[in-house]
Amino acid sequence: MKYTFTGETVLVSGAASGIGKATAHLLAANGLAVLVSDIQKDAVEKLAQEIKANGGRAVAHVGDVSRPEDSENAVDLAVREFGALHFAVNNAGVGDGNGPMGDINLEGWQRVIDINLNGVAYGLRFQIPAILAAGGGAIVNMSSILGIVGEQTAPAYTAAKHGVTGLTRATALEYSARGVRVNSIHPGYVDTPLLDVFDEQAHLELIKKHPIGRLGTADEIAHAIAFLLSDGASFITGASLLADGGYTAL
Ligand code: NAD
Repeated sequence: MKYTFTGETVLVSGAASGIGKATAHLLAANGLAVLVSDIQKDAVEKLAQEIKANGGRAVAHVGDVSRPEDSENAVDLAVREFGALHFAVNNAGVGDGNGPMGDINLEGWQRVIDINLNGVAYGLRFQIPAILAAGGGAIVNMSSILGIVGEQTAPAYTAAKHGVTGLTRATALEYSARGVRVNSIHPGYVDTPLLDVFDEQAHLELIKKHPIGRLGTADEIAHAIAFLLSDGASFITGASLLADGGYTAL
């Protein structure tokens, strides 16, 4: 499948695994130069090599999205290496094993909010000026079905992903007329290492919550992200795009 890009550049966070990795490969195959960023040094460097071996353009950045200075460095590196930044995918995230709210582990709460919500905010803070300087572009923020509906066993994750939904809307309101479209993507459960915490029985229970009869794949979410960045989505901003196999329609 082809998307309309003309040699622009994109920053993808959490690119070393799962959805971020699939997205980086797809965007590179469609002609974007990709700054792949992740906290996992070896894996993100290997990804950049793979993209280059496939004929794409990629530079690796090692950073932690919960540290604002790392997000700033990632943007600086993209501009330095590629000349400008046009697109960003704020995808890095972690799961939530912190228990129900009445006895939640508060360090765990802080970690999930720091990475899944603050990480997106820090990304936007430094990406937006660079994208404005490049003459405009688009951003996709990674939310979840749990940015639309709740999950009682994952209050920090649910709160962080709802936060991403609102942050996306507020940012889109400010920047859409200035040439930066900002949208959030809301996958159902997707078969990536993030789901390794679930045993086989829990996997089967998760599948039952998706009317389509299976979990999603990282490639399917990558295609939804590529569409939102592409010119095909030129009138779409401030939107929450569900890619959930019908989970929220139940
Ligand atoms: P994954 O674990 O395969 O990939 C997550 C990536 O983020 C990893 O490469 C990891 O190293 C990186 N990362 C984690 N903490 C980081 C940090 N502090 N700084 C920089 N990088 C960091 O998981 P995935 O399923 O591909 O998840 C990607 C995003 O999609 C997450 O935001 C997740 O919440 C979201 N999501 C996943 C699902 C799902 O079912 N897999 C569903 C909805 C939303």
